[in-house]
Amino acid sequence: MTFKEEQQQNQAPSHRQLRDKSLLQSDALYQYILETSVYPREHESLKELRELTEKHPWNLLAIPPDEGQFIGMLLKLMNAKNTMEIGVYTGYSLLSTALALPSDGKILAMDVNREYYELGLPVIQKAGVAHKIDFREGPALPLLDELIKDEKNKGTFDFIFVDADKDNYLNYHKRVIELVKVGGMIAYDNTLWHGSVVAPPDAPLLDYVKYYRDFVMELNKILALDSRVEICQLSVGDGITLCRRVI
Ligand code: SAM
Ligand code: CA
Repeated sequence: MTFKEEQQQNQAPSHRQLRDKSLLQSDALYQYILETSVYPREHESLKELRELTEKHPWNLLAIPPDEGQFIGMLLKLMNAKNTMEIGVYTGYSLLSTALALPSDGKILAMDVNREYYELGLPVIQKAGVAHKIDFREGPALPLLDELIKDEKNKGTFDFIFVDADKDNYLNYHKRVIELVKVGGMIAYDNTLWHGSVVAPPDAPLLDYVKYYRDFVMELNKILALDSRVEICQLSVGDGITLCRRVI
């Protein structure tokens, strides 16, 4: 059986199904990346979770698998141990993180919706990494405010992944900058917002894309000026901005 036939038999989604999650302009190149470097290396539980999530009506919310692979690599390079995730959905980025952390690693995971998390939870449990996750249901802002009240939590997180309501990203930034350690990383997802950050003002954008665009652009401007962090904006997935706290 050829590699292609094997892929078809495994029903790996084509780039067409995933392309709304990637800004890469060449479909063929994106498909090449997925087939060559991502699907063959994707952990079986991540594959299971991705396939389960594909059946959910909001499946576009999950990060694409190439981004999960990137986050896993980054966490290992950083030797990250204590992490946070804001915006879990069914848990693809959460499981990517949990699999990359050492066995005593921790993820404080927040989402307003426990039902989404519980869809993916059996897969996370089967992968043997559920013990690393402390899931908190509720809006993230008050949870972050609670954390900040306790001085002991400040400067303790190695990595914080922010992938929830884009209109609150700046509010999250004000708080997570205090919680991440100097030398640690905050990663903001969707900072190229479907490419809309360069769309002309009269471009026919979907309502939700139009609504959040200004918030994302404002965040990008503020991060570029924030001397407390070094930044690197990558066009992986829908754009991810890494912020390394320096002071
Ligand atoms: N990181 C996830 C993944 O890779 O599968 C995708 C997260 S999805 C884009 C955004 C999530 O943020 C949704 O599950 C939603 O319920 C959650 N959310 C929205 N507003 C929130 C808030 N104020 N506080 C916490 N979670 C929120
Ligand atoms: Ca996202």
